[in-house]
Amino acid sequence: MGIQLFTPTFHIEECLKEIEKCLEKGWTGIGFKTFEFEEAWKAYTGLCNAHFLNSATAGLHLAVKIFKMLEGWQEGDEIISTPLTFVSTNHAIAYEKLKVVFADVDEYLCLDPKSVESHITSRTKAIMFVGLGGSTGQYEGMVKLCKKYHLKLILDAAHMAGTKLNGEIPGKEADAVVYSFQAVKNLPTADSGMICFKEKEADTLCRKLSWLGIDKDTYMRDQGNYKWHYEVEYLGYKYHGNSIMAAIGLVQLKYLEEDNTYRRLLAKWYDEELAKCIGIQKISIPQQCLSSQHLYMLLVPERDALLQVLNKREIYPGVHYRDNTEYSLYAYAKGSCPKAKYYSDHLISLPLHLRLTKEDIKGICEEVKRHMEALKGVEDHV
Ligand SMILES: *Cc1c(COP(=O)(O)O)cnc(C)c1O
Repeated sequence: MGIQLFTPTFHIEECLKEIEKCLEKGWTGIGFKTFEFEEAWKAYTGLCNAHFLNSATAGLHLAVKIFKMLEGWQEGDEIISTPLTFVSTNHAIAYEKLKVVFADVDEYLCLDPKSVESHITSRTKAIMFVGLGGSTGQYEGMVKLCKKYHLKLILDAAHMAGTKLNGEIPGKEADAVVYSFQAVKNLPTADSGMICFKEKEADTLCRKLSWLGIDKDTYMRDQGNYKWHYEVEYLGYKYHGNSIMAAIGLVQLKYLEEDNTYRRLLAKWYDEELAKCIGIQKISIPQQCLSSQHLYMLLVPERDALLQVLNKREIYPGVHYRDNTEYSLYAYAKGSCPKAKYYSDHLISLPLHLRLTKEDIKGICEEVKRHMEALKGVEDHV
């Protein structure tokens, strides 16, 4: 089977027991375990609100939609975002017919506050910040910018489950924080996500919009037994999470800290093995940041050649990410972010998951070193 980039690991017996409770009770949908998971997530992160959804993509879309509704944003208004991300970050903006304005990234592969500031116009409404690979990058700089220019801050924390900044879970300053519990993320379910709004009002609206705009509470309160009777005020979506996913999430959350500690150990082994390897560059993590270590990324001169070499040895790394302005959908901004483009051409994510051993890491690094030596040999001959 070789070594995959990601292989999720589940605490199977415990997950099955939690799922069994849902099946026995006959309650697999929203409510029951979804509420329990929301409470557990708030307790873990210290964030004020948490609403469980079927994906982070849904959460990012709802964040943009809800601020657009509450703040009266117009179509064509702008949100500044990063080109170095999974496309759902930017699709979420485009779904609401807002313009994705791409700013460039810094050495942490996250949005650079200087570049962001230079892209602010009278139509800028928000900044979408991605903590790439679990790093906080210059998140604090972004918080400052948002205060200075009265912008909303949306934190795409899809990679950040368990990341700490100055010893705490970051995100309390953001207007919305969105986590992914998709299978290959640090807290795997099968597919789900969580949105944490700073304000209660946004959370309340989100609960209606994630369930087709249905407002059950008002009628439950006013009319007692008329359970079938509810109000529909908004054209909402079917975005809420279910109890089966929440049951898995509750179990996996118990192991998140331990799992992330092992991820950091794997990263340390990579660092040690590659310390003397000339020609590669490690992506640094800010000092105050304890990364969830979702990814282990390197910059290499001949990325595609290295990918091929590793694939031949049944090692399957990844690339996070292709500069989004290279995609035809976002090509209007092509070439506008030279650093992101450079990284997009030179980044490689080495396998990082809980089933890897020190021996695996050594084996992978041997191949990387051999490739780099071969490159050097070619150079020496010309
Ligand atoms: C995975 C991911 C998402 C989307 O998460 P889903 O839960 O799969 O919708 C969004 N942003 C980033 C940076 C991601 O890696």
